[in-house]
Amino acid sequence: MASAGCDIVRVAVPDEAAVRALKTIVKESPIPVVADIHFDFRLALGSIAAGVDAVRINPGNMKRDAHLRAVADAALAAGIPIRIGINSGSLERSLLKKYGGPTADAMAESALSCAEKFERWGFTNIKLSLKSHDVQQTVAAYRKVADACDYPLHLGITATGSGLEATLKSAIGIGALLLDGIGDTIRVSLSSSPVDEVEVGVAIVKLLGLRPHGVEFVACPTCGRCKVDLLSYLPAVKERLSGLDADITVAVMGCVVNGPGEAKQADIGIAFSDDDVASLFRKGKRYASGPAREMLEQLVNDARRLGRTR
Ligand code: SF4
Repeated sequence: MASAGCDIVRVAVPDEAAVRALKTIVKESPIPVVADIHFDFRLALGSIAAGVDAVRINPGNMKRDAHLRAVADAALAAGIPIRIGINSGSLERSLLKKYGGPTADAMAESALSCAEKFERWGFTNIKLSLKSHDVQQTVAAYRKVADACDYPLHLGITATGSGLEATLKSAIGIGALLLDGIGDTIRVSLSSSPVDEVEVGVAIVKLLGLRPHGVEFVACPTCGRCKVDLLSYLPAVKERLSGLDADITVAVMGCVVNGPGEAKQADIGIAFSDDDVASLFRKGKRYASGPAREMLEQLVNDARRLGRTR
């Protein structure tokens, strides 16, 4: 996961065996480890003693104040934060009754009332998350909490499933909040490999300009004006520039209508015209023209050179 771009990893700690494993995990993990605790506060205490970098608790299933306070005291002594992780599927019964179900208001009240308890006990090293499978509900809950407090927020849409729809749910929900300036860390939830989740998350923050984005392609979707085999040219160019570690935009455009304009705005670009002829653009100017395949070759070489100089 770290190799894929993950900055912080959360691990479930469901029992004593998991607590015992934590010492090794913490020691060997190249990134901070957050222990995810449900029901049993003693697992949180054991995890803190094992050296985790943070603890996540869910007030919906850790209900006794004495237990929450014991976790807060241990985290304070260890100097680590606690994430108060609200999940619409495990809200307190009193809130479900008050709001008639797991609404955004119910989620926000659950998070804020737990944070207030911690504050009363002198613990403010808090981060909040409010996850639901419903994109609109999740976004509304985060906006309410962002208006009500200054605590860091960990964003995520949960239980999204798999495939395109699941990926889009995270992209829309997390993306909408980040564009509002809300959110400090993110987690993409997919019924898939954690590495897939990290890859989607990294793509979201890159596309929002919150992380170096590497090579970003601006490409023509093709239409009736496209006279070249752009749908095979584009993957070939992407493949050949896939290892280039530089923040540059590369345009690959299909015709002379919008092609030169888009290519001029990119760091480097190619625009095809009829008869398999193409032009190359850099710094807003056309700098070469010729047979399409020769121009494609030159585009790849010049993009690599540009990337190296960056
Ligand atoms: Fe059509 Fe040209 Fe736009 Fe591509 S760049 S979609 S070919 S108009």
